[in-house]
Amino acid sequence: MEPDSGEPLSGGVVGEIGEPSGRAADHEEALRLAFHQLAEDGVDLKSSGLLAVGHRVVHGGQTFYRPTLLDDGVVAELEKLSELAPLHNPPAVQGIKVARKLLPDTAHIAVFDTAFFHHLPAAAATYAMDRELAQRYRVRRYGFHGTSHRYVSEQAAAFLKRPPDGLNQIVLHLGNGASASAIAGGRPLDTSMGLTPLEGLVMGTRSGDIDPGVVSYLWRTANMDVEAIESMLNNRSGVWGLAGERDFRKLHAMIESGDSSAKLAYDVFVHRLRKYIGAYLAVLGHTDVITFTAGIGENDAAVRRDAVAGLEELGIVLDDGLNESGSKGVRRISADDSPITVLVVPTNEELAIARDCAALLAG
Ligand code: AMP
Repeated sequence: MEPDSGEPLSGGVVGEIGEPSGRAADHEEALRLAFHQLAEDGVDLKSSGLLAVGHRVVHGGQTFYRPTLLDDGVVAELEKLSELAPLHNPPAVQGIKVARKLLPDTAHIAVFDTAFFHHLPAAAATYAMDRELAQRYRVRRYGFHGTSHRYVSEQAAAFLKRPPDGLNQIVLHLGNGASASAIAGGRPLDTSMGLTPLEGLVMGTRSGDIDPGVVSYLWRTANMDVEAIESMLNNRSGVWGLAGERDFRKLHAMIESGDSSAKLAYDVFVHRLRKYIGAYLAVLGHTDVITFTAGIGENDAAVRRDAVAGLEELGIVLDDGLNESGSKGVRRISADDSPITVLVVPTNEELAIARDCAALLAG
């Protein structure tokens, strides 16, 4: 990725590491495969002027909220943070270790998904629970997808030719993971994910908001231990848990064919999304722009339509033609006279991370 132009020299994903269905047994093999692919695409890492390797790290805890140059000490701190994010941080740390081993002369920089939300107002960051316990165990609302929320809100402001500090925005990041944020003048006032990325919107396989009483109830009555319940809420819930499918393209086809589970999953997803839009209109008081992003937000016109249908009195008027046009890139989908502007902005976390790395190295 070239940070100024935003031009990727090459791109790809090595997934399912260590799975029987995957191509790589471990992170080292995965990275070697990626290097091989880069070479095939004509990218010679030695001569390409590689400045830095940016690592997306999900949880920065209370400690890390700026792009951070990785050394042995920082990696050790990140390993300790794995307690807070046992599902997400260990693979990132594994990736960092392998990348530092294979590219020892390059700067390695961690960019944290929690960073943008570090300064959430206390009223939004605090869970109403035993205060002493929460402080001892660092239980607070951290928020995730911060790199995307920040990037998308900046892109929205640039598209509208307005300075970000003069705009109140709601950003809806709807991908396999999904989150919403309320941003006033460039500063987040609230976001839907919490201590972990499980809270908030209904997601591909995650439940989002759920009564915490469900956890103790299942523990007591369904003979499930905490790992089994956590795994169910993360991997077998959300749209997939209700419909057995998480890809919205297939979900729509199932609904078309009369599948009532798919219809219910879609309705539950949209209902939760509308609740958060309503909540964040109230948190902001005045909203200038609502932006949809990520796989579903960028591509699924039906979700966008249903998320704001009937909210004209709240100032949201879509232009159906623009919403359904299927064009790509940053675009407005609200009517000219809509008091609140509605946009679609493709997210680009890789570019945001590359720019964070370049800025850190430039001092
Ligand atoms: P992401 O996590 O941002 O890559 O989003 C992935 C999800 O976006 C997929 O699981 C699909 O549910 C959804 N998605 C991708 N493309 C489309 C599309 N053309 N129409 C509807 N949903 C889509």
